[in-house]
Order: sequence, then C-alpha cells, then structure tokens
Amino acid sequence: MKENILLVEDEEALCMALSDRLHKEGYQVDFVTDGHKGFEKATSLPFDLIILDIMLPGRNGLDLCRDIRTAGLGTPVLLLTARSETVDKIIGLKLGADDYVTKPFDMQELMARIEALLRRAPIRTGQVVRQFGPIRIETRGMSDHRDVKVTRGGEPIYLSAREFELLRYFMEHAGMVLSREELLRAVWGYEAGTFTRTVDVHVASLRQKLEKDPKRPELIVTVHKSGYRFVGGAEY
Ligand code: CA
Repeated sequence: MKENILLVEDEEALCMALSDRLHKEGYQVDFVTDGHKGFEKATSLPFDLIILDIMLPGRNGLDLCRDIRTAGLGTPVLLLTARSETVDKIIGLKLGADDYVTKPFDMQELMARIEALLRRAPIRTGQVVRQFGPIRIETRGMSDHRDVKVTRGGEPIYLSAREFELLRYFMEHAGMVLSREELLRAVWGYEAGTFTRTVDVHVASLRQKLEKDPKRPELIVTVHKSGYRFVGGAEY
C-alpha cells in the first residue's frame, strides 16, 4: 500500500520538486501552500506523514504542528526549517514534531528521514489517532475492533466489529465515492448481488452512532445512484 504524505510548503518550486521526487519514490502526495489549508487537510484526511515548512502564510508551521497535536492527530511530522530558524526546530520538537531537516537539504537525506519516520511511526506511538470533526478514532494496531476507541465530542461510541470494519474502510478511502458493491466485497467479502441492502443497513446504523443528525448525514453522505462518500472535516 502506498503511503500518503501531506506536504505544506509555500515555495512553489520546492513544492513541485519535492512532490515529483516523492511520487517517484512511490508515495502519494497531497500538497497545500498555506497553513490554514494545511490544518484543514491534515484533520480531514488520513495521512501517514506530514511535511511542514515553518515559514508559511496563514498559519506558520510551528502553530500548525501544535494545532495538529491538539486536535489529537498522532501522524508523524517532519519540519523543514531555514538556517536562520535554528531555534524554531527546538520549539518544533517540543510542540510535537518528530524530526526536522534544514534547508537547503539533500534530497537523499530527506528521503532517508521520511523512510525512517514511516517505519517507526506505529511503534513509536503504539496507536493511531484520527480525527474527523468531533469524531475521534483511536486504534492500536488496527487489527481488531476491540482495540478501537471511538468518541464523539468526548463521549464514547460503541461499534460492532462489522461497523468498525466499515468505518475503517470509509476512513481509508475518505473523499472517494464507494459503491455498495465495492463495500460489500471489501468489508463483507461477498460478491456483489442480492446483499447490497446489507450495506445500507450498516451505513444507517453507523450514521445513527456518528452523525449529529442521522437524517441529514454530514460524515457519510449518499451519492445518488453511486453509493457513499465519507467526508469528515474540520468544518463539520
Ligand atoms: Ca516558506
């Protein structure tokens, strides 16, 4: 599985060069050029790693790093700092960043740091925390629904194993339109056919547990004639 990297960097040339290189290394890259958008992205989609420039328009990288941690995200953060910002990297590490590289950096060096962070991420944190608006999902190893804690505005939500599997699949494919057939195959292991109604029933029960107003879902939305899309997001 390709790892997802979020790049928050306002220097366009560097942004392009970096995403090119990351693509070549086999990563999926999403990039934004200001701090506010960076926060929105980081809290609405699941990433395996976030690369943060410090000097950014909107919200600087240090504030962004702190806000990401405050929002409950355990995603590894790598800071990009300029030489003149040596003090900032210490602050950055205190605010929850995992590592930093100083500009101008050697691409090879950066790739090695990224690889190291991705490798140690699950061991270091021992858990994955994902936040979609008021919904917070904490997992240990992602193997079993009993290892998952789901809360809504701090209140615990209890999910069945199937509901968890469905939610996990939605999270891993956030923003994508998923057909009932695909969900049935991925979550239940059934071939498409007579059981597609099963998906609707489980989506309805997930909505009942997760949505502010289950009749007007904002998290798992219906896409007419196509299926469902998991949205989530900071504005929710
Ligand atoms: Ca910058």
